[in-house]
Amino acid sequence: MKRIQRLPDHLVNQIAAGEVVERPASALKEMLENSLDAGAGKISVDLAQGGIKLIRVTDNGSGIAPDDLPLALDRHATSKIHSLSDLESVATLGFRGEGLASVASVSRLTLTSRPQDSAHAHQIVAIDGTLHPVEPAAHPEGTSVEVVDLYFNTPARRKFLKSEATEYAHCSATFERIALAHPHVEFLLRHNGKVVQRLPAQTLAERIGAILGRDFVDAALTVDAEAAGLTLRGLVASPTYSKASRDAQYFYVNGRFVRDKLAQHAIRQAFRDVLHHERHPCYALFLTLPPEGVDVNVHPTKIEVRFRESQAIHQFVFHGVNKVLANTVAGSTPQQVG
Ligand code: ADP
Ligand code: MG
Repeated sequence: MKRIQRLPDHLVNQIAAGEVVERPASALKEMLENSLDAGAGKISVDLAQGGIKLIRVTDNGSGIAPDDLPLALDRHATSKIHSLSDLESVATLGFRGEGLASVASVSRLTLTSRPQDSAHAHQIVAIDGTLHPVEPAAHPEGTSVEVVDLYFNTPARRKFLKSEATEYAHCSATFERIALAHPHVEFLLRHNGKVVQRLPAQTLAERIGAILGRDFVDAALTVDAEAAGLTLRGLVASPTYSKASRDAQYFYVNGRFVRDKLAQHAIRQAFRDVLHHERHPCYALFLTLPPEGVDVNVHPTKIEVRFRESQAIHQFVFHGVNKVLANTVAGSTPQQVG
């Protein structure tokens, strides 16, 4: 008979990392969400070798108190929720307290931070999940997280990484999904030292144009629906501007990019009469609802959500999109967003 043993924390983190940090882009997502949760108005991303060699995210957000630096890398330690009732109405992108702990367990991570209104910055280094002592450092107000050599200590996982170009493409897609939902935040993306994207603080229409292209925005119809605590806003391309692939489908729930079958289905239904079935509608849509109406804690990376009133959501999304499409088909002038 084999005896039962408690796993060491380090191994627990590495196992969790398997779920949370599938690839460099997933580490980048955790880091960007932390910067946004910290209220950053400006976020810079540096990647090297598709993020495999380096992911550095620097923000001008709230910062982290020196004493909290080790906690930030501790599993299940978070400043974002305190109780089960907080979990039911979570308004931040993170709350599970395992993002940084997971990333740190499979990389060499340096966390440097200077809280707002503090004169000093401090830094903590974690290598292979082992924390080194907190030391003074130089940093403006805000936080930098630097992740080097992802999976250097877990070669079996490292083997699953694809080419630099593919990993870079995933990082870039993650960056764009997040940037799209936060037009008032300034973003910068560099890869191998070269600036790839520079996004000033701008309006939503401008941000959508910067990411999905002016031609998308020019061919787009405005969705603006509201009912019973729900809102659906954003742009859908007119049926003449469809794509053969799904990569221009952006759907957000309370600011979070999600892949939601229910919403995809509702939007497809709305397009059914106007779009050839092999074409995919293009859209950037933002659904908001009271946090109690949606469970975001169903997936480690929160890419999926569960709605309490799924039928009502389906109908709301369907009608919101269908209404603007019906207007164009009926020949009235489509509302353009510029
Ligand atoms: P979660 O985001 O779920 O709380 P994380 O492991 O991602 O868990 O982060 C742990 C904690 O570290 C956060 O709750 C937050 O207090 C702090 N933190 C992480 N990144 C930043 C950042 N860029 N700015 C300020 N605080 C941060
Ligand atoms: Mg987080």
